[in-house]
Order: sequence, then structure tokens, then C-alpha cells
Amino acid sequence: MNKKNEIKGLTLTELENYFSSIGEKRFRASQVFNWLYNNLVTSFEDMGTIPKKLRRKLEKDFTVKTLTLKTVQSSTQSRTKKYLFSTKDNYSIETVLIPDSQRNTLCISTQVGCPLDCKFCATGIMGFKRNLTLSEIVDQYLLVASEVGKNVITNIVFMGMGEPLINFQNTLDAVGVFTGRHANRISRRRITVSTSGIPEKIIALADSPYRVKLALSLHSAFDDVRSKIMPINIKYPLNDVIEAIRYYGRITDTRVMFEYVMLKGVNDRDEDVKAITKLCRSLPSKINIIPFNSIAHMVQDGVSKELEPTSASDIKAFVQKLSDNNIVVVVRSTQGDDIAAACGQLATDELRVDN
Ligand code: SF4
Repeated sequence: MNKKNEIKGLTLTELENYFSSIGEKRFRASQVFNWLYNNLVTSFEDMGTIPKKLRRKLEKDFTVKTLTLKTVQSSTQSRTKKYLFSTKDNYSIETVLIPDSQRNTLCISTQVGCPLDCKFCATGIMGFKRNLTLSEIVDQYLLVASEVGKNVITNIVFMGMGEPLINFQNTLDAVGVFTGRHANRISRRRITVSTSGIPEKIIALADSPYRVKLALSLHSAFDDVRSKIMPINIKYPLNDVIEAIRYYGRITDTRVMFEYVMLKGVNDRDEDVKAITKLCRSLPSKINIIPFNSIAHMVQDGVSKELEPTSASDIKAFVQKLSDNNIVVVVRSTQGDDIAAACGQLATDELRVDN
């Protein structure tokens, strides 16, 4: 191997195979994983149990760090923190830590930008550059954990920039790292993958060893409205997505969380209450109501420019109607909107940053 590879891009088995291939004992892979994911070291030099000569060899063959922390912004309204990282090829990505009374949730990104162009989402407006590598996904967790303390992060949501199920294998392998014995062993029930709805990937996730929680960006229970605000719905209509979700629920014994951003006059009508009620009654689910953060300032025209937030009083009335219909509904607080870290606001000013 003469090209420097990302060591965190390897699974444990792949690293064991590497050690075998250079005539070393396979257990060295476990030791290295322990240093990386348990002790959070960022150089081979600090891996005390690895013989010096082998450390030199690892240094020659692999890189350890893939991201550089550029800035940390702290919300003045909540304890939310937004981390801006740069990649080796100078793209910017964002990661958000959202503490509340019961948990500390890390919202991580899986892509630089996003190709899906949801009309209410700042990331979609940025366009798409590339998938993040496994190493870059995992490094978001490791670098934040180094800053705030190893055991502080209790939950992980794949809800940052990008559609995780397009970057499927890297997302899956990252879940493998987070739930594995070398990291903090975050329970699969504390990890949520959020998708805009790609049926074959939802089914593949259900059939994988990682039965994490699933969230679906629903945002309308009507195909015509959903297609207008989420173009992916034209390719994968809601019925097909819901069938995949039903399968996921059956196989994993979890209930889906429907994400629902409140858009004035678009999806906050009485007919929407009726349609959501019918949908939620048909499968184990709950719905997460999200106040909309306008992104009209980011675009010249088009659907995104027209979208407005539903007022707080109308959200309250909408939630009450759903509750009256015995639907399990939670309202997400707009944590971090003062630092553009709230849902749908993640977008770096420039895709590339100067180092
Ligand atoms: S909501 Fe998610 S899937 Fe849609 S554009 Fe934004 S990041 Fe992509």
C-alpha cells in the first residue's frame, strides 16, 4: 500500500486483514480501534501499546485525521453548539450538538451539500459536491467528543447536511463504529437515520444488522404538495415510501418518526390534519412538528422564496387537533436558530473554505 488511506475508513475486519497482509497479528486492529475510538487519539505516535516500528509503518500507510475544526458557534438562547469543519479538499461541513435535560444529541452530516433540493432546506440550496467518507462522518463525532468529553454525547442523529441513504454504505459503517465495542457503544435505539424517503434503501437498512430508529421527512401527506416542496417525491411517491416504512417497522420493531416542517397555507390546513391522522393511525408512528426557519433570503425566486412559517398560534392549534385525534405529536423547539443551527438551516456560506 503506497497511497495514504484513511484508517477510520476501514472496518475492523478490513484493518485485521491489513495487519495479516503485512505479517502482523490481527489483534493489532482491535488495539488501534481502541486508541482511535475509545481514547480519541489523533496520531499514531500516541498509540502506546503499538510497537514503535509498527507505528512508523502505520504512519506511512494511513492518515488519522480527515477534518479540521474551523469554528464553534454557541447559541445565546440555548446550549446548542454548531461546529464548522473543513475537509482535506477544503469543503465546509457542519455538525450540531443539541443538549437538553435528558440527552446530548449530535446531529451529523453525511454529504457536502445535498442533491435533493428540498425547497424548505438551506442545505438543498447549496447544491451537492460529494459524499462524505466514512472517516469524515466518524470524525465529526470524535472531534466533538474530544472537545466536550467522551461520554457527553448520548444520541446521534443523521440529520445534518445531506441525505444519508444516498451515502448508504458509509452511513451504515458509521453506525457500525458508533455501536461497536471500541467506541462508546451508543445503543442503536439512540441513533436515528433521517431520510427524505428512498424505498429500496429503507428496505436495505431494515435488512442490515443495524436496526436504528428511522425518521421520514414527511412534510405533507399529499403527493402533489410533497412533490412541490420535495422533488424526490416525483421519483418515489409517498405510497411506495410508506410501504417501505411499514416493512422497516415490522422488521426492526421500531416506530417511525415523521418530520413535519410547518409551512403557512401549504401543509397546515384542516385537510392536512385529516391526512396525517389517517396515515399515523395506519402504522406505529409519531409526528415531530418543526417550526419553519425561512430561507427566502437565500434565493432570488421560486418555491423556496414563497414559503413562509406557520404562526406559533396556528402551530399550537394544529398540534391540538392532532392530539385530539390521539396522534402522538411532539413539537421541536427552535434550538439554535440564532446561529443557523436549527433544522433546515445548515448551509455554509461557501462550499469551499480557505485553509
Ligand atoms: S431536507 Fe435533507 S434531503 Fe432535503 S435537501 Fe435538505 S439535507 Fe437534503
